[in-house]
Amino acid sequence: MPARYETFEEEFGRLIKPDAELRKLATGFEWAEGPCWFSEGQHVVWSDIPNDRMLKWSAQDGMTVFRQPCNYTNGHTRDREGRLVSCEHGGRRVSRTEPDGRVITVVDNYKGKRLNSPNDVVVKSDDTIWFTDPPYGILSNREGHQAESELGKDYVFRFDPRSGELRIVADDFDKPNGIAFSPDEKVLYVADTGRSHRPDGPHHIRAFDVGRDGKLSNSRVFADVEPGIADGFRTDIQGNVWTSAGDGIHVYSAAGVKLGKIHVPERAVSNCTFGGPNRTTLFITATTSLYSIEVSARGAQMP
Ligand code: MG
Repeated sequence: MPARYETFEEEFGRLIKPDAELRKLATGFEWAEGPCWFSEGQHVVWSDIPNDRMLKWSAQDGMTVFRQPCNYTNGHTRDREGRLVSCEHGGRRVSRTEPDGRVITVVDNYKGKRLNSPNDVVVKSDDTIWFTDPPYGILSNREGHQAESELGKDYVFRFDPRSGELRIVADDFDKPNGIAFSPDEKVLYVADTGRSHRPDGPHHIRAFDVGRDGKLSNSRVFADVEPGIADGFRTDIQGNVWTSAGDGIHVYSAAGVKLGKIHVPERAVSNCTFGGPNRTTLFITATTSLYSIEVSARGAQMP
């Protein structure tokens, strides 16, 4: 279908392709999330959380099942060695898929207390793993296994695989969710999505300055997302933020100015990632389906 845009700032026109098609690549999911691009295979992997499966799509092979069951994975990313790093609701851990296919635990507890249900994850160029830990996967049996929170709070964590240290980097979120670095890694963006469970809850993206020691400072609200929440987002090489929202993908400049919107005809959009041969294809997970759209911007995340 022809893409439907809304433009708030002229600059948006340089980031999109006006005549692009919004393509529905695959459908039939209960709640799709966590798209992750593999350039070497030109394929995307994502989660269909309530169905406890991971799916894979390529232009050549269409959609296939990547892993089922999968411990109710949610967000995915890749580390600097190209290994798949996943948030598992069911395993209440961050896991990593080794080159031989084994799935190993990266981290599953903070000082002996189990994590809630890791939601979204990003790996910094120094190999540290940053993730959000809201309780969505333990609130019911729909997206994991219902359980009490052992931590009693929703933290944002930084894990250092060299030292094994798991550190709380933010402790004042109400359901932290999407997480991404600016291309120069000087800014960390984290979504606060409490609105998903109470109407007056937060629905914004916060930005932090990232210190050399890995400490965060200068917390500020970067963008108030309306409608819906910022479940997941990515940055392009210019530093613009492409975020999910209730009605589509919203694009913000690095200064936090809302530039425009790509409408996606679903109940809600959950996440997106850049891929394709030039990282100019935006893959979008939205409730029941996986979409793609060609854009003029180029994704920043590697590999
Ligand atoms: Mg999420």
